[in-house]
Amino acid sequence: MSQERPGQRLVGDLWCEDVLAVLSDLVDGELGSEVQDRVRAHVAGCDECSRFGEEFARVIRALREGLGPAEEPGPNVEARLASRLASVLEKRSGR
Ligand SMILES: [Zn+2]
Repeated sequence: MSQERPGQRLVGDLWCEDVLAVLSDLVDGELGSEVQDRVRAHVAGCDECSRFGEEFARVIRALREGLGPAEEPGPNVEARLASRLASVLEKRSGR
């Protein structure tokens, strides 16, 4: 696999933008545990995603425990994570 995407990393069989693409399904709890594991593996191994991985992990943990996001509604969490990832990638590819 020599595929390259500017500002993106391929970790755990997922690109950063792949993680972003499934984020809404993840928040909705519509991802299978296999995909969730791949997303978490990416976040754990990706420098860019790990910058907000703590918040990401907190959301996922809350979902897994069936509690829902503790402080903010799901859609806002999704939007905030998405915009944060977008800005990280933008900054990275701008250099
Ligand atoms: Zn990433």
